[in-house]
Amino acid sequence: MKVGVLGAGQLGLMLCAAGRRIGVDTRFLAPDSDSPAGMCSELIVADYTNEAALTHFIESLDAVTYEFESIPIEPVRSLAEKLPVRPSTLALETAQDRAMEKQCFERLGIPTSRFAVANTLAEARAAIDMVGRPCMLKTRRHGYDGKGQAVVRDRSELELGWVTIAGAPSILERLVTFKRELSIIAVRGMAGEIEYYPLVENHHSEGILRFSIAPAQNVSEDIQSRAQSYAKRILEDLEYVGVLAIEFFDTENGLVANEMAPRVHNSGHWTIEGADTSQFENHLRAITGMELGSTAVHGVAGMVNIIGVEPNVQRLREIPDVHVHMYGKAPVPKRKLGHITVTANDVQGVLKAVSQVRAVLAHK
Ligand code: AMP
Repeated sequence: MKVGVLGAGQLGLMLCAAGRRIGVDTRFLAPDSDSPAGMCSELIVADYTNEAALTHFIESLDAVTYEFESIPIEPVRSLAEKLPVRPSTLALETAQDRAMEKQCFERLGIPTSRFAVANTLAEARAAIDMVGRPCMLKTRRHGYDGKGQAVVRDRSELELGWVTIAGAPSILERLVTFKRELSIIAVRGMAGEIEYYPLVENHHSEGILRFSIAPAQNVSEDIQSRAQSYAKRILEDLEYVGVLAIEFFDTENGLVANEMAPRVHNSGHWTIEGADTSQFENHLRAITGMELGSTAVHGVAGMVNIIGVEPNVQRLREIPDVHVHMYGKAPVPKRKLGHITVTANDVQGVLKAVSQVRAVLAHK
């Protein structure tokens, strides 16, 4: 079995490593020669629109997937005419555009924050009273890790917000008051079978995921089953095959969906050590038509992202039950350079190890 992957960042690197364990080879296509997945597998360096490169890319592949959603949709559509693209092109198209994504949530009865499409400043001005304040401008496309967003507390801040997002077509979305942020990772196989990992609690700062704890603590059965039912609706509606992540706000009125990712996700990295089958292996199993692996969890896991600064890996490795994953990327402020997973029998054990990890990260 050979799978082609569009994008070649750390998610690709971990897909490649998982593939090696189950006999799935990978080939990557990405525009940047300095891409982490290139350390593990064949990497074709070219634009996603380069037809000659795409022809070379699909030679002897069984399926194509992606590990990054900001890929031009047209080449993906033309690939889908030649071989299976999983998850579906429709799933990619929906997740690429915040307006389509929110409309999808609404259509499927999944609670989401009030919003309006604001392709122009005039549309944003006209929508603000309906959306309510405080609210947030978010670019429809290419926003990730808090990029392309501006909080608008009052009508007078709209112009400045519009400058911050560089006037790109956007949505205006009501700010949600939440207790915490949760996400679910689910996987659907080719025969329509679905497996779910437990909800994960995520801590962001500056719009970037810093720390996750899995399973999230104090989650009622009702909340877990609601998250699963929302995931199921999306998976079935989009005829989805592969791993899907949905991020939620946990509010006084229940779960409110923020966004989804049609791929393996940072809040699922803990599954490498913390679950019977990792999200990466399950994604490859799903898209190659294999039986899905068990999503049973071992104890509690904590995941800490290494952001911007090269850590002292030697000192990190001295902490018991700590697993360090470095992506081979040059340090740049706000760039995800690696992650650390800690495992323990209970949440106290995880929190203790996480504070040791954080102390090492703070001192280099
Ligand atoms: P996103 O790119 O949509 O995942 O947003 C990044 C982070 O910004 C989220 O994880 C939240 O912490 C925060 N955020 C995004 N949208 C909202 C919202 N409507 N209300 C409150 N916080 C938000």
